[in-house]
Amino acid sequence: MASAGPAPGARLPAFSAPRSSPAVPPIVVRVAVPSPLRRLLDYSLPPALAGGEIRGCRVRVPFGAREVVGVVLDTTDRTDVPADKLKPVRARLDPVPVLAPDLLALCRWAASYYHHAPGDVIATALPVLLRQGEAAGRRKLPVWRATPGGRGAPASATARSAKQAAALAALCAHEDGIPRALLDGLGIERAQLVALQKKGLAEEIEVDVEPGAGDADPVHAPLLAEVPLVASADQANALAAVRAQIDAFRVFLVEGVTGSGKTEVYLQLAADVLARGRQVLVLVPEIGLTPQTVERFRRRFNRPVVVLHSGLNDRERLDAWLDAASGRAAIVLGTRSAVFTPLASPGLVIVDEEHDASFKQQDGFRYHARDLAILRARNAGVPVVLGSATPALESLHNAASGKYAHLRLTQRAGSAVKPRMDVIDIRKQKLVEGLGESLLREARATLARGEQVLLFINRRGFAPALVCHDCGWTADCRRCDARYTLHLDPRHLHCHHCGSEAGIPRACPKCGGTDLVPVGLGTERVEQSLGTLLPGASLLRLDSDTARRKATLPRLLEQVHAGKPLVLVGTQMLAKGHHFPHVTLVGILDADSGLLSADFRAGERLAQVLVQVAGRAGRAEKPGQVLVQTRQPDHPLLVRLLKEGYDAWARDALAERRMAELPPWTRLALVRAEATRDTTALDWLENVKAAASALLDDSDLLLMGPAPAPMARRGGRYRAQLLVQAGNSGELHRFLERLVPLIEADPESRRVRWSLDVDPVDLY
Ligand code: ADP
Ligand code: ZN
Ligand code: ZN
Repeated sequence: MASAGPAPGARLPAFSAPRSSPAVPPIVVRVAVPSPLRRLLDYSLPPALAGGEIRGCRVRVPFGAREVVGVVLDTTDRTDVPADKLKPVRARLDPVPVLAPDLLALCRWAASYYHHAPGDVIATALPVLLRQGEAAGRRKLPVWRATPGGRGAPASATARSAKQAAALAALCAHEDGIPRALLDGLGIERAQLVALQKKGLAEEIEVDVEPGAGDADPVHAPLLAEVPLVASADQANALAAVRAQIDAFRVFLVEGVTGSGKTEVYLQLAADVLARGRQVLVLVPEIGLTPQTVERFRRRFNRPVVVLHSGLNDRERLDAWLDAASGRAAIVLGTRSAVFTPLASPGLVIVDEEHDASFKQQDGFRYHARDLAILRARNAGVPVVLGSATPALESLHNAASGKYAHLRLTQRAGSAVKPRMDVIDIRKQKLVEGLGESLLREARATLARGEQVLLFINRRGFAPALVCHDCGWTADCRRCDARYTLHLDPRHLHCHHCGSEAGIPRACPKCGGTDLVPVGLGTERVEQSLGTLLPGASLLRLDSDTARRKATLPRLLEQVHAGKPLVLVGTQMLAKGHHFPHVTLVGILDADSGLLSADFRAGERLAQVLVQVAGRAGRAEKPGQVLVQTRQPDHPLLVRLLKEGYDAWARDALAERRMAELPPWTRLALVRAEATRDTTALDWLENVKAAASALLDDSDLLLMGPAPAPMARRGGRYRAQLLVQAGNSGELHRFLERLVPLIEADPESRRVRWSLDVDPVDLY
């Protein structure tokens, strides 16, 4: 969209600034502009543009040689910008704020907590059309309809043109008019309509686009469209606890194994909140993968449910945003960025699968949606419910310290029983393509009983390496310190780190040998080998390669739900939200990569994925079994987790983190840098460290590194990092507040790409 003037068809005109300079001293507004600047820019607000609340309104301002759309975050009567340098706001785009005070506060807090550019934070919070200057109103739809005169017109009025007569008849048949876009399909030509218009028989008007056609009438239908389930004792307990504080801020951690009825608890709490005319915000990890959650909210309530997902176009996204802002949407469901959805009257915030790493944005503005959701609930004075079968250690820590209320659902709903978990020591077994004899035997038996098998392997593609048998050459990504993954479907080499692709060489480029062997296991390979190992069995594969093909996922889930015996092979995608009632055997092909990783969160991730994958099994009447293949059967994580469960493991893990002075006992921030020359980033971080050391005083803050990133080269850039560890959040932020301006002021900083990650989830 062109940046000159508001979008065509915009309902609210922009107020243009007068050219002459105003007589009274102008108000100074502080504007977040779309740029990496970590501060607000001051502009004068001509009196003609003042009036009403300006904070939260969009303005057009000059920025360098361009004109950009920014958002006013504040006003002031004092500015450091000399009067002759202070540029005026060119236009005000909103008579009333698009960002209500609560969202403005959230954005400001996030910009300061993550030490990130406010303009970029605002860009995350605003739908793209609003960023581009589109009017903050629903789209108007041009519609042709018959005038009253046209309706009563005698046949003689169109006697001379059969086409006109047909067009008029069509308009009369559609009382609400026919949208312009549909005219073609009805065989109506514009010329006929114009002719009818000249005779006063037809007119073109603009109507409000009615949102979410198909939604129930929000006012007249009863709230509930289906009867809630009778709550179990655990559910009733959890419900009572939240209901007792439904009007106040409190964090509730609802911990319950998969199938224990957490979603039912969300639904019943949502009913209470909706009944009081308030809105519910539900955050989920990956919406495309949890259609069942969306479906259950839609089925339960006769109220508009707005779903923010990646499939929306810009206009649909803006309309959804406006529906939430106006209060029309009773329930707003979305992934990470939905935490910034405006709500007219928030009543409850729910974060489902709160441990999921996808809530943390991994580039640019690295916010954590769960943490911001908690802040939002606090600002709004409403409860927030975090749900998970495997809560993050941070959340368990907060529950243990009493900061969060800890509610447990210990029983599986209905008659489903918990699956049995066993370790298989594969050191003593012959492995065929990663599958041990006992796992294969159990798989055959399960299929023979007419039940389903789920095999989990955390790598997609055919094999994670292609190696020359003669000289040991490996196919490495040209741009990363990483091996290419071999894919056979379709055939190519793929770097999972930078996305680059290459053809599969016929011969070794080093020695010319032709014996290139795939090493290691991926989902494709397991699927292929199962074809021989379990002849005749139906095989399905679920990973991001198959899920990307649009129609595949629903079709695949349908097959699994049909209940015929089959083997489902997949990555951690399997662990997310799906209910597989007919799966009674879960095989974890390789637990060891998680056990061996250097990342301090690797153990937590492995424990979560094991429990989550296990949770897919045995949900109906049939009991489930989980077999974990490992070469480290005595590893404390496995022993504790499998024998005593997630909570017991988590207690151990928290104790270990405490000893190692790792989060949640301490707070971390990671300064990352990357550059095209190999030592630039590292050298720059050395300088940052030197400057940072001077700020340390006698605080017990620790600087670790700098060191090359675990993957030192990625996407053609050399990467390094400096880790900051502080005893608590306050200490960390007091330090960063002083460090970041130093970095920004240093001209050397322009030689690298640097970023700051507060509360990093990944240390690479
Ligand atoms: P979770 O969200 O913890 O995985 P769900 O709320 O999806 O659990 O519940 C799992 C299954 O048990 C669903 O099919 C649900 O309909 C059923 N269920 C939940 N609560 C009850 C209840 N109180 N009585 C009977 N069935 C229930
Ligand atoms: Zn070779
Ligand atoms: Zn790469």
